[in-house]
Amino acid sequence: MSMAATATSTFDQQGDQSDGARVDAAMRSFVSEFGVTAALHMESCVRCGLCAQACHFYVTTGDAKYTPIHKLEPFRRAYLREASPFAPLVRALALVKKPSIVDLQQWQELLYDSCTMCGRCTLVCPMGIDIAELVKEARHGMFKAGLVPERLALMDRTARQWGSTATPGEDLPDILAEAAREHGVDIPCDLHSADILVTAASAELGEHTKALADAAKILNRIGVKWTMHQGGFDASNIGFNNGDLELQERLTRALVDTALKIGAKTVLLPECGHAYGAARWEAAKWYGRALPVRIIHMTEFLDELITTKRIRLKKIGESATFHDPCQIVRRGGLEAAARRVLAALGFELIELQDHGVTGYCCGGGGGVVSNPRAAPLRHKVFEMKQQQIEATGAKHFVTSCGQCRITFEMGAKYANWDKPTESLLELVADNLAE
Ligand code: SF4
Ligand code: SF4
Repeated sequence: MSMAATATSTFDQQGDQSDGARVDAAMRSFVSEFGVTAALHMESCVRCGLCAQACHFYVTTGDAKYTPIHKLEPFRRAYLREASPFAPLVRALALVKKPSIVDLQQWQELLYDSCTMCGRCTLVCPMGIDIAELVKEARHGMFKAGLVPERLALMDRTARQWGSTATPGEDLPDILAEAAREHGVDIPCDLHSADILVTAASAELGEHTKALADAAKILNRIGVKWTMHQGGFDASNIGFNNGDLELQERLTRALVDTALKIGAKTVLLPECGHAYGAARWEAAKWYGRALPVRIIHMTEFLDELITTKRIRLKKIGESATFHDPCQIVRRGGLEAAARRVLAALGFELIELQDHGVTGYCCGGGGGVVSNPRAAPLRHKVFEMKQQQIEATGAKHFVTSCGQCRITFEMGAKYANWDKPTESLLELVADNLAE
């Protein structure tokens, strides 16, 4: 592992492959990603520039290198040289330069530090180009080339060893027992059979165990048979963020296989955006058949319990604004569900200027929050979000993704801003009516 710098960028690299081997590994991966959909996307950009104004990194810096379509440039060059209809001609006449190791090194910042795979650019593109998806595919090549920000690579190695970036499975019973004691709630672990397999985000297994206790309080209230399980417990999927497809699949399979082993019909995901992207949507792509269990996000679960009157809530009766996590709302479709839960809490909702599917990202998704190198960019995005939140004048600021919450907490600390970011789950658990 090492950190290095070219004339214009800083990058990390892993392993001892030669520069040539890194380029070849990336190119092989890029070419394997060029299915019909990716090819159509690469062919259809009309360079209208609309995606630039959609991207929080471009909007808050004004730096042209953060234009979404620019982030795909080496990927586009690889496509034109290797997979486009005129690829042999392009190569023979050297019409397009092969991406070099320096291109890939400089590209690391654009793919990992300044893209959260939030999909806001995708939403506005008149040609329907899914830039967020293409960035994710480009990250696969970068991972193969050993060109990933070191903090993310470290988390990858940990998850490969433990099945979690937070803890080995064997420590889970102790962590849950401690959280149960601290918060005064039963948290079952490793039951041989249960109806719901409950999973956590990595942060909830460390500093934020109250979220585990909040979920437990609600599940115990409705009298369902549920458990957490050493076999599959951490739904935060670092493989999804890094471009490590093999790890991504392995982590999600652990959840599905554990659910099947204990006869659970449902896997309940925590308040985590990329957990939802990886387990709910990506798994459906590679599983090969319909997923044998239902995989739902915490927000969906809370909404269902409220709608079916299995829980009732005390009305808070104050104003609130809500940050829509990109992977849960724009990419995941749960815009209305979160608002029904807020309404059940009796909030007067004052929407952010940009909200729902058009809400701006928190600036920390896609692994950006875990990448210290990206902190200055995150802080710029935070300024914009802070202004939008303050403009609502709302008393509460709520979100439904733990990673967004951590991003906001880090931003608030840096900006000396004292408004807390509240969790939808926590508000529900704290306001259960008898
Ligand atoms: S996916 Fe989001 S962060 Fe990435 S380029 Fe598009 S708007 Fe910017
Ligand atoms: S909005 Fe779409 S078509 Fe326009 S520049 Fe961006 S990717 Fe290309």
